Amino acid sequence: MPHFDMIIDGRATSSPACIEVIDPATEAIVGTVPDCTREQLDESVAAARAAYPAWRARPHAERQDALRKIAATIMAHKDELQQLLTAEQGKPLAAAMAEIEAAAWWIGTVAESELPVHTSTAMPGQVSVTTRVPLGVVGAIVPWNFPVLLAVWKIGPALLTGNTMVLKPSPNTPLATLRLGALLQEVLPPGVLNMVSGGDALGPWMSAHPGIDKISFTGSTATGRKVMESAAGNLKRLTLELGGNDAAIVLPDVDVDAVAEKLFWAAFANSGQVCVAAKRLYVHDDVYDEVLAALKSVAERMTVGDGRDAATALGPVQNRAQFERVRDLIRDAEANGYRLATGGEPANGPGFFVPVTLVDNPPEDSRVVQEEAFGPVLPILRYSDIDDVIARANACEYGLGGSVWSSDLDKAAEVAARLETGTVWINSAQGITPFAAFAGHKQSGIGAENGTEGLLEFTVPQTIYRPEAA
Ligand code: NAD
Repeated sequence: MPHFDMIIDGRATSSPACIEVIDPATEAIVGTVPDCTREQLDESVAAARAAYPAWRARPHAERQDALRKIAATIMAHKDELQQLLTAEQGKPLAAAMAEIEAAAWWIGTVAESELPVHTSTAMPGQVSVTTRVPLGVVGAIVPWNFPVLLAVWKIGPALLTGNTMVLKPSPNTPLATLRLGALLQEVLPPGVLNMVSGGDALGPWMSAHPGIDKISFTGSTATGRKVMESAAGNLKRLTLELGGNDAAIVLPDVDVDAVAEKLFWAAFANSGQVCVAAKRLYVHDDVYDEVLAALKSVAERMTVGDGRDAATALGPVQNRAQFERVRDLIRDAEANGYRLATGGEPANGPGFFVPVTLVDNPPEDSRVVQEEAFGPVLPILRYSDIDDVIARANACEYGLGGSVWSSDLDKAAEVAARLETGTVWINSAQGITPFAAFAGHKQSGIGAENGTEGLLEFTVPQTIYRPEAA
């Protein structure tokens, strides 16, 4: 069984205690990682702090080159990382490879970014030049649904802009990330990228740590609130990418055959464990029965199973707590008499497998509609009035994403503009690129990742005024 060490100041580092990583398809232990002590966190922050001046002083072009090397390293080890990712996360091997390759492409793309410089001569006799400078030591905290890709979303822009980093993967999925951390020591100076693993105590130690200047956090809204509270001590900068309960709105003119499979994946990719999965599907009365039947037919063609089996389209839910949460939502729907078009109560293990479950028009205030399921259960809801459905979509503490499905792109765009979310897709969902800002509105987050806005979150402006040359 593999054991992966933490990376502190360029060195593999173990701890007195370990945590076990569970394969969600078998519930067997697939690896162990150190349970970081508080002293070891202090060491990793000190290492990042010590590496910071030299890394910051490097020319931008050299840091760009380091990112390109990171991309090449990921690609050179993609098969090994794919196997680790499927074993710990559960996703099908093809999806694991897609995540690893996306991570390489992402960081290679971010490598080509330049930072803006703003010059003003508006004040007579003065020139002001505003550049963007790094923050210092970034603490990165990552969830378990896309462990490698979401880590790279933070590593790329933080390092490119001259910061150093201490990164913590989720205790549920640390294996591929720690392995990647070890591989990247070949292309980075010691201390620039440190990786620590641990249980429930480690995240709070990081968000309260006085040696960390910024926390870039991806995870649930409940945890995001705690991070914000404990980051106040030294006024850490924060980027919070949090939960969502995305509405997908299907207009009456939709071409059902053309969109059925896309709608299915909008909700069920990664077994529903995507922050921007469609989590509430609002379908116009005119096409409701047809859409429900089409989705049920797609769902019943998909195999739920071990990610290592070639036939598997959807892997297990990643961990027991999440499995129980999703099972509880299904039980609640059944107990309240809501009709399940397909799916239902999961079988008893081993493995956290949940059948694709479609709930036929439950009440708007039901738990399955109001709560973020983060698993393969989807409520499908009828509507007949566009203003009413937009109000229902927006009556939500979250504001992460949403989608509109229609044959009339202009009409869809009008609806899209009325959704109170950071991202809206038309006739697709979940697509995110390094080129555009990804930001949660309302309680889905603070700040942005990706795009220029995401890059700038790892910097602060610095303005230098000088007299104009005669
Ligand atoms: P989580 O909030 O439980 O954990 C996220 C990370 O925070 C983990 O590394 C965890 O160990 C750490 N953590 C836990 N308690 C902490 C604390 N008190 N202080 C600091 N760190 C702490 O979330 P999860 O269950 O791993 O992920 C699922 C959630 O993440 C869902 O709500 C999903 O919508 C959200 N998510 C959001 C995005 C996005 O970009 N907006 C992307 C993926 C997932």
